[in-house]
Amino acid sequence: MKRSEYLKILNLAKISLEEYNNWGENEIYKTSTADASYGKIVSTEIKRQISPTEIFGSKEELERLREKVNSCKKCPLGKSRLNAVFGIGSSNADLMFVGEGPGYDEDHKGEPFIGRAGQLLTKIIEAMGQTRKTVYIANIVKCHPMIDASNPEKRSNDRPPTFEEMEICKPYLDMQLDIIKPKIIVTLGASSTKGLLKSGEPISRIRGAVREYKGIKLMPTYHPAALLRNQDLKKFVWEDMKKVARYLDMGEI
Ligand code: SF4
Ligand code: URA
Repeated sequence: MKRSEYLKILNLAKISLEEYNNWGENEIYKTSTADASYGKIVSTEIKRQISPTEIFGSKEELERLREKVNSCKKCPLGKSRLNAVFGIGSSNADLMFVGEGPGYDEDHKGEPFIGRAGQLLTKIIEAMGQTRKTVYIANIVKCHPMIDASNPEKRSNDRPPTFEEMEICKPYLDMQLDIIKPKIIVTLGASSTKGLLKSGEPISRIRGAVREYKGIKLMPTYHPAALLRNQDLKKFVWEDMKKVARYLDMGEI
């Protein structure tokens, strides 16, 4: 087959897979009625589940999703943000951190966790023997929740996202999870923990015990900003991260 024909078929497959995905389909099967001009497709049996990322690569899928997020205005946060903050790290990460939402620094730069709390998170990640490049870091909302939405240039203008904002934005996080397929999620603080687990329990009670979100292990822990306010909480986060590291190493928790 000529290269140009091959690319044409691949492109058609890609468009069709996206269509499937848009409609929430995740099963691909070959049927006897497939267009005969593209070869002898004769089997009617369902082959196996396959996702677009298996064919086109998770890095590319993430970049395409990033573009959607960059132009998203589905909730009011989209109107006041300077930059959407999609996420950073490895598209194959085993470990994914989920924070509550971008703050002033993140909104200005478009990168998650780069302010003071972010620098502490980077240290925690490095203490686990990883880097910002080997894990994935995202937030439950991608745009900066502000107390005064008319003033993105003001410092100390951050607030936690509302339940509604989290619900509207969460499909993007779900898609990131589908693409990256981490072995474990660490939720940082009450917002992302409540947003994913739909639990009203305080973070002080819920942290440290492993839960599940969409079949993925989830470890809730304190937000690094809480550690900046209260050093005594550091030992709990370290305890939780040791469990996470052991799970990644030995597969048990
Ligand atoms: Fe869209 Fe999420 Fe930003 Fe709201 S916070 S505008 S849903 S990307
Ligand atoms: N706090 C968060 O929860 N997320 C960030 O990206 C930065 C600070």
